[in-house]
Amino acid sequence: MTGAQTHIPARIPAEIPEPGLYIVATPIGNLADITLRAIAVLQGAALIACEDTRVTGKLLKHLGIKARLQRLDDHASPQVRARIIAEACDAPVVLVSDAGTPLISDPGYRLVREARDAGVNVVAVPGACAAIAGLAISGLPSDRFLFAGFLPVKDKAREEALAGLAGVAATLVFYETAPRLEKSLRAIATLWPGREVAVAREITKMHEECRSGTAAALADHYATHPPKGEIVLLIGPPTEEEAPVLDIDAMLRAALADAGPGKAAGQVAKASGIDRAVLYARALELKGE
Ligand code: SAM
Repeated sequence: MTGAQTHIPARIPAEIPEPGLYIVATPIGNLADITLRAIAVLQGAALIACEDTRVTGKLLKHLGIKARLQRLDDHASPQVRARIIAEACDAPVVLVSDAGTPLISDPGYRLVREARDAGVNVVAVPGACAAIAGLAISGLPSDRFLFAGFLPVKDKAREEALAGLAGVAATLVFYETAPRLEKSLRAIATLWPGREVAVAREITKMHEECRSGTAAALADHYATHPPKGEIVLLIGPPTEEEAPVLDIDAMLRAALADAGPGKAAGQVAKASGIDRAVLYARALELKGE
């Protein structure tokens, strides 16, 4: 987080929050990107559950807020969550993550689910989210999008994850790290050479940039200009030239419901134009599952 251009207004509207669990978004870079309501709720919190007490401690110091902190990360025990939920029944309790909106590739899902099950009032205090900010500046279609978090680290798993999204008629939004960006772009270039891709980097920070083009052109750029900082990677929806993606397994399974592997492979070969022998081998595998 940077503190550049930060000015926190001296007068924050007073809010004595009711008991409940408040899901509070915090800045993703520029510390001024915190809402007046978030500050008021943080001021009134009996307890703040956070991913990393040092990171949240710094933000609170910047805001001049003293509060009791409780670490809550993905490894928190059920007992820790139960204690936070018990406290939220009688007092305002806040959940924040290191940056942005909690639960969005950040901890909090179990806590919110269990709090709701326990009848706790769960309240949104919305604000910054890198995925949404990246989409908003990317120039890619924003009417339909699919956020898919981080891509897998291993090459094969990454390719499979991307291929699994081939038929999604929407902009795809991922979180990415600088060291892995080029590899991801190369994988995208192989699958979808014609799609428009955008890399939104260091959003709200001093070196904010959003670069778009084909995945191959972007990969070449970042090969010679190694990226730094935090990244949202966006892929435009399928182009009209892209061949329709067939879900061969689904077609084979449907055919196998009424026919043996040979007949099913024949039917799907006719419908898809794919080699019958390949389909037969796959039909045998599916039958054996
Ligand atoms: N919950 C957060 C949110 O609402 O944005 C995201 C948390 S996730 C652990 C962190 C990832 O978000 C980073 O690795 C990066 O991909 C993306 N990110 C966070 N801040 C960013 C920024 N300022 N610019 C670009 N991407 C950012």
